[in-house]
Amino acid sequence: MTDCIFCKIIKGEVPCTKVYEDTSTLAFLDIAPINPGHTLVIPKQHYETIMDIPENLLENVTKTVKKISIALSKMSDGISIAQNNKKSANQLVPHLHFHIMPRYKDDGHKFTWPKEEYKKGEAEKLAEKIKSLL
Ligand code: 5GP
Ligand code: ZN
Repeated sequence: MTDCIFCKIIKGEVPCTKVYEDTSTLAFLDIAPINPGHTLVIPKQHYETIMDIPENLLENVTKTVKKISIALSKMSDGISIAQNNKKSANQLVPHLHFHIMPRYKDDGHKFTWPKEEYKKGEAEKLAEKIKSLL
C-alpha cells in the first residue's frame, strides 16, 4: 500500500524506533505512548484488519506480541494489549497492529466503558446469531 504510514516504516521511508524484527513482523515504539515502552507489533505485509490476515501470518504476529509482552513485563507491573479494527473501533492506521502497553501500579489508565446487562433471553439469541455467522 503506497500511502500507508506503517508500510512506509517497513520500507524504511519513514523512521521508527525499532525494538524487534523478523522476516514477517516488526515491533517499534508508538510515537504517542500511553506509557513509556508502548510498542506496536505489525505484519510486514499490508493487511487492514485481523479479519483479513491469513492465519499463518497472524500466528507469526502473535508470536512477536508474546515476545514483546514478556520483555515489557520485565520492566513494568503489567501488560495491556489492544487491537482495533475499523474506524468505528478507533482504528486510525489501516494496517493491522497490536498495541502492547506496559502498565504501572496507579498509572491512572482505566480502559473501561459503561456496560449494560442483557435482558432475559437476549444473550442466548445473540449467541445463536454469532454461532450462525461462524
Ligand atoms: P490505532 O488507533 O489505529 O489503533 O493506533 C494507531 C497508533 O499508531 C497510535 O497509537 C499512534 O500513536 C501510532 N502512530 C501513528 N503514526 C505513527 C508513526 O508514524 N510512527 C509511530 N511510531 N507510531 C505511529
Ligand atoms: Zn500498510
